[in-house]
Amino acid sequence: MSEAPHYDVAIAGGGLVGSSAALALARRGLRVGLFERRFCGAQASGVNYGGVRCQGRPVEQMPLAMRARRIWDRLPDLIGIDGEFTVSGHLRLARSESDLAALQQWADMARDYGLHAQLLSGAQFRERYPWLGAAAVGGSLCASDGHANPRLVSPAFARAARAAGADVREQTALSGIHHDGKRFHMRAGDTQISADWLINSAGAWANTVAGYFGESAPMKPIYPNMWVTEPLPLFITHNLGVYGGGIYARQVARGNCVIGGGRGHGDGEYGQPSTETTRAVMRDACALLPALREALLIRTWSGVEGETPDSNPIIGPSRAVPRLLHAFGFSGGGFLLAPGVGEVLADLVIDGTTATPLDAFSIGRFAQLATSSVA
Ligand SMILES: Cc1cc2nc3c(=O)[nH]c(=O)nc-3n(C[C@H](O)[C@H](O)[C@H](O)COP(=O)(O)OP(=O)(O)OC[C@H]3O[C@@H](n4cnc5c(N)ncnc54)[C@H](O)[C@@H]3O)c2cc1C
Repeated sequence: MSEAPHYDVAIAGGGLVGSSAALALARRGLRVGLFERRFCGAQASGVNYGGVRCQGRPVEQMPLAMRARRIWDRLPDLIGIDGEFTVSGHLRLARSESDLAALQQWADMARDYGLHAQLLSGAQFRERYPWLGAAAVGGSLCASDGHANPRLVSPAFARAARAAGADVREQTALSGIHHDGKRFHMRAGDTQISADWLINSAGAWANTVAGYFGESAPMKPIYPNMWVTEPLPLFITHNLGVYGGGIYARQVARGNCVIGGGRGHGDGEYGQPSTETTRAVMRDACALLPALREALLIRTWSGVEGETPDSNPIIGPSRAVPRLLHAFGFSGGGFLLAPGVGEVLADLVIDGTTATPLDAFSIGRFAQLATSSVA
C-alpha cells in the first residue's frame, strides 16, 4: 500500500487568501497542498466588486493593507498578468459637512502610515467632477488606490502557486481533519493526506474547518449585491465609494460601470441579488452619478462572504491546536488584503513570527468579549 501524501502545509480553500498563501509558501521552498472544494477563485475572491483600496480602512488594518498594496504593483512578475489592476485613485464621497470632517480625520490618521489622501470640496470639487450629482458635496482622493478584475486575479494566484511547485487540487474538499499530537491527518477528496501545518482559508465556510478542533468564531454569511451596466462613454475617473458605505462604483476600460451596494439574499451556500436592494441602490446611484439614469443594467449577481462582529478578519494561530493558522472572516474587505495575508501566513509558518501586527485579528478577541460581557 502506498504511503499517504505528506505536505509541509495543507491549505483548506483556494480563494485569493489560500492561493496567495500557497504561492508565498511554495516560493519559499515548502511542500504545499492547496485544496479547493470547487474551483480556485470561484467564490468571493472571483465575484467581488474589485476594489483595491486602503482608504477607509480602520487603523488596525493599515500595516497589513499597506503591505498588501505594495504586492499589487508586482502582479505581472508574481502571477504573470496585471489582472486589469488600474491605479485610478479612490474617491470617497461626502454627503455632508460632518462626512467631510470624518474624512479629514481619517486622512490625518493615514498620514502616519505613509498614505496620502487629499480633501476636496466646494468649487474646486464641482469643477473637477462635473459628472457627480449634487448629492456629493466633497470627497477624499487617495491616488494610490485602484481597482482590478477579480475574475482574472484570483485564479491567476492559484495558477502561479502551481507553477511555483504547489500541489493545487480543485474539486477536492478537505474533511475528516484531526491532529494526532504530531501532525494533521485529513481526507482530500477520496485521498488520505497528512501535513505539519494547516491553513484554514475556507472563507465563509471556515467555521466548519475550525469546528474539527472545537473552535469557532462569531461569523455570519453576507451577500453583497453587484451590478454592471452596458458600456458607456468613459466618465468615472476613480474607484468611487461613499462615506458611511451603501454604494460604490467604478468604470472599466471597456466602458461598463460596475456598481456595488446593499445586500442580496442567500442560504449560506449560495448568494443571489435582491430586487428591493436593486431599487434602493440604483436610486442612490443615479443621484450620485446622473449619467447612469439612462444606462441599461446587463447583469446583477452576489456572492458569499463571512462577516465578523467587528468587521475585522481572523488571522493567526488557532487557540485549540498548534500549527493551525486561521485566515478568514474578511467582512467584505479581503480583496486588497489577501496577497498580504498570504505573505503574513508564510512568515508565521517559516519564521514563527511576522513584522505585520496581527493582535487585532486574533480569534481569541471574541472569547475576551464574551468574558467581559458576562463580568
Ligand atoms: C459580492 C462581493 C463583493 C466584494 N467586494 C469587495 C471589494 O470590492 N473589495 C474588497 O477588498 N473585498 C471585497 N469583497 C470581499 C472579498 O471578496 C473577500 O474578502 C475575499 O475574496 C475573501 O477571500 P477568501 O479566500 O477568504 O474567500 P473565498 O474566495 O470565499 O475562498 C474560500 C474558498 O474556500 C473553499 N472551501 C470552503 N470549505 C472548504 C473545504 N473544506 N475544503 C476545501 N475548500 C473549501 C470555498 O469553496 C472557497 O473557494 C467582496 C465580496 C463579495 C462576495
